[in-house]
Amino acid sequence: MSPSLVSVAYLGAAILFILSLGGLSNPETARRGNLLGMIGMAIAVLATVFGPRVGAEGYAWIIGALVIGGGIGLWAARIVKMTQMPELIALMHSLVGLAACIVGFASYVDTSLQFEGAEKTIHEVEIYLGILIGAYTFSGSVIAFGKLSGKIGGKPVLLPARHWINLVALLAMVWFGRQFLAAPDVQAGMTPLLIMTVIAVLLGIHMIMAIGGADMPVVISMLNSYSGWAAAATGFMLSNDLLIVTGALVGSSGAILSYIMCNAMNRNFISVIAGGFGSGGGAAAKKGDAAEPQGEVVPVSAAETAELLREAKRVIIVPGYGMAVAQAQHTVYEITQTLRDKGVEVHFAIHPVAGRMPGHMNVLLAEAKVPYDIVMEMDEINEEFPDADVAMVIGANDIVNPSALEDPESPIAGMPVLEVWKARHSIVMKRSMASGYAGVDNPLFYKENNRMLFGDAKKMLDEVLVALKA
Ligand code: NDP
Repeated sequence: MSPSLVSVAYLGAAILFILSLGGLSNPETARRGNLLGMIGMAIAVLATVFGPRVGAEGYAWIIGALVIGGGIGLWAARIVKMTQMPELIALMHSLVGLAACIVGFASYVDTSLQFEGAEKTIHEVEIYLGILIGAYTFSGSVIAFGKLSGKIGGKPVLLPARHWINLVALLAMVWFGRQFLAAPDVQAGMTPLLIMTVIAVLLGIHMIMAIGGADMPVVISMLNSYSGWAAAATGFMLSNDLLIVTGALVGSSGAILSYIMCNAMNRNFISVIAGGFGSGGGAAAKKGDAAEPQGEVVPVSAAETAELLREAKRVIIVPGYGMAVAQAQHTVYEITQTLRDKGVEVHFAIHPVAGRMPGHMNVLLAEAKVPYDIVMEMDEINEEFPDADVAMVIGANDIVNPSALEDPESPIAGMPVLEVWKARHSIVMKRSMASGYAGVDNPLFYKENNRMLFGDAKKMLDEVLVALKA
């Protein structure tokens, strides 16, 4: 393939990636967006492999890597459950970071690349920054994976003087950067480069460990953004225009998503990335007095729940992480249809951080074919709760926690929540009295108009459906 043909292919792929991102912004066009992204990526890979920079002797390596990487990808896609997707994505971000590091070291020791003067400095700055962002993204994403999969506790780990530690680490990396650029040869430059890599890895671990459970959504999208910048840095190192464009697209869209999520959760972006935000003035997350549960919980049966639903005129369903775990979305859809057939008005209320990844609930509801026009965002639906007869909470906890609004000491204070307690009755479906991802008690369970339907969401909803149809 000639260089000009490769450029045309890259341009086409870049346009397809932009259209893909546009498509992903709406559930109705998301499938098409995905398809466009896949076509773009296929064009990008083919143009690179058959382009002028890969000789025939490289094909065996590429085919080997494709078979191994593709095989692992196929295997992971088949065994990973929907609820494990966020962990998988965190792991993928870590691989992007690792790749940026490996490419960085490879281009530094590559003797076939001869740069002089300003070009040499620019190339070395690209290498240094690429490895720095890559190493941070790698270790930070591994910690995020650990937190999301429950292998590492969700509570923030806050070292004393942690902001000073971060600042010293940053200054040290700048200093080693100067040493690296001033190094007379590759051997001399290797030492500051390696030291900086170790500092960046430790910084990634330290900063992500310090972020509390409820702020993890922002961290995930932020690491997504970093992985984009790491890819863009790799593009600079390899002089690959498409990688630069793609990396910048991922980097900027991740940054925009982080900003939107911060706004939705009433969090300050800088405070979130500095860690420990919302944990009560720097201490580890503690229970606020006002959040201390008071009173008794009132359990109900599936039959009683069906009765309440049957008598209702307006029902709002609030899905959360537990619905994803129980894979209850199809039964939720059937209950919705049954109620609508009986003339009950049903709406879904979606919190921006419900579940474990942005858009988690929208994906599940779309999969179950719930019509988009009854699925409402938090801002639109919150004022509807006082007019609702029943608010049915399915496996959600943090996103319906009134202490976020009522208790300034709560670790989730200030986060907007779905105000289900304003409905005539709220019914919370979960298996026990356990807390949610943020590890905070939920006073909703003890409210007078609240009922608890204990059990696995799928099993209980199946029973509710049978009782509704009886
Ligand atoms: P939560 O994690 O707060 O609560 C989920 C509840 O579901 C649990 O209390 C659990 O209670 C219940 N549950 C679990 N399995 C089942 C089951 N099989 N059947 C019935 N119930 C079940 O989830 P929310 O969606 O309310 O809130 C999301 C939380 O996750 C927020 O804190 C958010 O910050 C965080 N987060 C969100 C991300 C995102 O991007 N959306 C990313 C990372 C974190 P029990 O064990 O008693 O059944």
